[in-house]
Amino acid sequence: MRFDLITIFPEFFAGPLEHGIVRRAREAGLIHVQVQDLREFTKDRHRTVDDRPFGGGEGMVLKPEPLFEAVESLLGHHVGDAGASNMADPRTAIVLMSAAGKLFDQETARRYSRLQRIILLCGRYEGVDERVAEHLATEEISIGDFVLSGGELPALLVMDAVTRLVPGALGNEASSQNESFSALQSLPVNPGIGSKVTSHLLLDFPHYTRPAEYRGWKVPEILIGGNHAEIAKWRRAAALKKTRRNRPDLLSKE
Ligand code: SAH
Repeated sequence: MRFDLITIFPEFFAGPLEHGIVRRAREAGLIHVQVQDLREFTKDRHRTVDDRPFGGGEGMVLKPEPLFEAVESLLGHHVGDAGASNMADPRTAIVLMSAAGKLFDQETARRYSRLQRIILLCGRYEGVDERVAEHLATEEISIGDFVLSGGELPALLVMDAVTRLVPGALGNEASSQNESFSALQSLPVNPGIGSKVTSHLLLDFPHYTRPAEYRGWKVPEILIGGNHAEIAKWRRAAALKKTRRNRPDLLSKE
């Protein structure tokens, strides 16, 4: 799996690529990460990547030319123009990070983890010329309903979520199957009323470690007992309780 990050702040990525699972996955050759300085694809002396918005208004907008040319140089071919656009390779995603994009979630991360290549375009300022979203990017992705100052953190976040799903990236393979948003679990929604069973995404169950008692707060007795069936039952109920408390929206989705 290869990630290309296109940015005006290439140094931004130095730290985050050097830690934990992302670092191990790079060292093991499971992922390759290349950071591309957008300014290398400018032609003027000032290496200009932005310009004023047509129609007026605040701020500056990232120009289309450097972004198109950066992507074309990575792909090694022309992506086309209004007359004729090239077919996109289904194994490559060209993702524009955008507060106005579709919401990123675990399902999207899983879909990306099956690709060969992900090119992440990081916006800045007021955003990016819309022709990038329409004719260069294969998708426009938001990491949440808030506005950040640039696409670099969102791109890292996507890369992190995808990397841990690449086979072999997690030390313990089981751990990406048994966590928040992972397995679609069958749960009786209204245990009392009939026996309606629906699939839902659940949050992870609570985890505890030693000491068994800390400042008077005890770890639930069942977890210490060693009865695996009882522990599984407790975890399931606790995950459901936590989902109800923190993310009731997940349970109301059919
Ligand atoms: N004017 C835009 C915000 C621009 S913020 C709007 O109101 O929608 C500058 C850049 O930060 C964007 O181009 C995008 O690349 C990035 N960005 C900001 N918030 C983001 C979010 N929630 N998800 C993904 N990228 C985001």
